[in-house]
Amino acid sequence: MTQGPIHGSLDIMVKSKKKTEEHRCHDCGVKEGGIHKLGCDMERCPFCGGQLISCDCPYKVLGLDFDISKPFCGLPQAIYEKGLTKEMNQKLLEGLDKKGRVPYILYPSICGRCGKVNPEFFMVPAWVWWKYIQKGSRKLILCEGCWSTIVNLIDMLSGIEDDTMVPCPVCSSTDSRCYYCRGNMVEERFVSEITQEHSGWKH
Ligand SMILES: [Zn+2]
Ligand SMILES: [Zn+2]
Ligand SMILES: [Zn+2]
Ligand SMILES: [Zn+2]
Repeated sequence: MTQGPIHGSLDIMVKSKKKTEEHRCHDCGVKEGGIHKLGCDMERCPFCGGQLISCDCPYKVLGLDFDISKPFCGLPQAIYEKGLTKEMNQKLLEGLDKKGRVPYILYPSICGRCGKVNPEFFMVPAWVWWKYIQKGSRKLILCEGCWSTIVNLIDMLSGIEDDTMVPCPVCSSTDSRCYYCRGNMVEERFVSEITQEHSGWKH
């Protein structure tokens, strides 16, 4: 008899199923497989695949001309200032339903080092990330615990003294929203990397 392992795997299946059922969209609270509340930041657009609250497709559905180069983005002033009317929202819903809305599916993020599911997000300036995370691993998600472990291990090993700190070549270290420096000075040896990557960005 192989009852032990069968029991074990059944147990795991039951447990993981329960977890899925309990999972809800963090923004609008819909269950997995359900349709988000209109305006939820997690809903994908059925037309372009982008984020529904930030793409232009809803304006096209409503026959509105959205153009950021025009005053009020080409929209009637009232719409630009106050948002869509009730009737417009209704029409938009009908258009989305006709195309088929994208239900909420859970794609958990997983720490690339310890496997922790949906770790809390934290932010470090890009150059600091590059300093500690080797090439080829920089696209990984890390939990904060693994991040500080890595930082400690590398600091312990290297014994390299900190490089000269200089202003960020993108924002002169004045912008706390700057992806590269978050408003802090950067090590001189990263200046060329930052400059290179930034000039390669297509807006
Ligand atoms: Zn949602
Ligand atoms: Zn879209
Ligand atoms: Zn981790
Ligand atoms: Zn900067």
